[in-house]
Amino acid sequence: MINDNIPSPLSTWAQNIAPSPTLAVDAKAKALKAAGKDVCGFGAGEPDFDTPQFIKDACAKALAENKTRYVPTPGILPLRKAIAADYTAKGFKNIDETCVVLSPGGKMSCYLQILALVSPGEEVIIPAPYWVSYPEMVKLAGGITKTLETDDSSGFKITAEQLKSAITPKTKLLILTNPSNPTGAVYSREELEKIVEVATDAGVYILSDEIYNALVYDGAEACSPATFSDKAAQYVITASGFAKAYAMTGWRLGITVAPKAIAGAVSKLQSQMASNCTTFAQYGALAVYEQPELAKKAVAEMLATFDRRRKMLCDALNAIPGVSCYRSEGAFYLFPCIKSFGLSSTEFAEKLLDEELVAVVPGSAFGAEGYIRLSYATADATISEGVKRIARFCERLAK
Ligand code: PMP
Repeated sequence: MINDNIPSPLSTWAQNIAPSPTLAVDAKAKALKAAGKDVCGFGAGEPDFDTPQFIKDACAKALAENKTRYVPTPGILPLRKAIAADYTAKGFKNIDETCVVLSPGGKMSCYLQILALVSPGEEVIIPAPYWVSYPEMVKLAGGITKTLETDDSSGFKITAEQLKSAITPKTKLLILTNPSNPTGAVYSREELEKIVEVATDAGVYILSDEIYNALVYDGAEACSPATFSDKAAQYVITASGFAKAYAMTGWRLGITVAPKAIAGAVSKLQSQMASNCTTFAQYGALAVYEQPELAKKAVAEMLATFDRRRKMLCDALNAIPGVSCYRSEGAFYLFPCIKSFGLSSTEFAEKLLDEELVAVVPGSAFGAEGYIRLSYATADATISEGVKRIARFCERLAK
């Protein structure tokens, strides 16, 4: 017999952490699909392409050569050297392999960076809408999240003035995601330079999450704050990974590029939590740098497809009465406003899934009520059918 009177065995960490809402929506959509339902899934932040063949070949070769053992915690030397050279070529300053750490996923890179920088009671500024995991990671580090609101009228971007007024003596870190998940917004160089200046003048570190920086459209440039100045190079910790640009979500390979002391702390934390990330996966990733022409071609092909879908989805959403969609310039998300229908974003998303079998993520999951997030990393046919269903749903709601 289960005794309900015994106290919960769970720690305050386990009780206080929220499960990832984006993964939950994806799991629900996949379960419905498995049950034979015709679901149009816009939930997952995952390219629908296969990993490029040359990367899989390099990984298979490594496996055949028994590259299956432990390697140094921060990653295999040739990969860290190649990443350091690539970032140096992009304008990063004073970077060598000691500044690079490979972690099991970009998510882990971000979490370890936060653990390496934030002590209990310190404040972390996070612009909203934000990627769902940051506030939970800050919570696990004992830090305090302060969100800065933005909306579609400002292109979902904070201003330097907004940042200045939020900084207190307790502020340790600002988290910037550029291009953004969930909005797809991309900061211009000028906007970013002002923000970075305010942060570094106040001694505030910046976690610059650039995992989507290969995915920009309409001539937008995804700038890296660490390249701006010597001072910025001291204060900026860059997070990235192979998942989004190379369709390698399941490989679990994230990148930290940071000043040596911070990269060392990330590696030290990882040595007690995960050790190295999968050895043969790292050899697969190395092919990106050893065969740059193939890598460039693979990214360009995916980018062209994403761009076509972005325009198609954005135009179709804006054609629905009551919906307005900011024309984003990066990543593979759109974040339309659904405020006119008078439902919370959770109600809207749940009803849409129940009534029309369309999976989207409510804006509230990203700290922004009144919006929904759609990923266009999905088949053209899903986009055209899904948008028809959303239009039908909105028409019913408006009646
Ligand atoms: N940062 C952002 C902004 C993301 O959207 C994601 C994935 N959704 C990640 C980091 C982590 O990516 P992964 O762990 O799959 O490498």
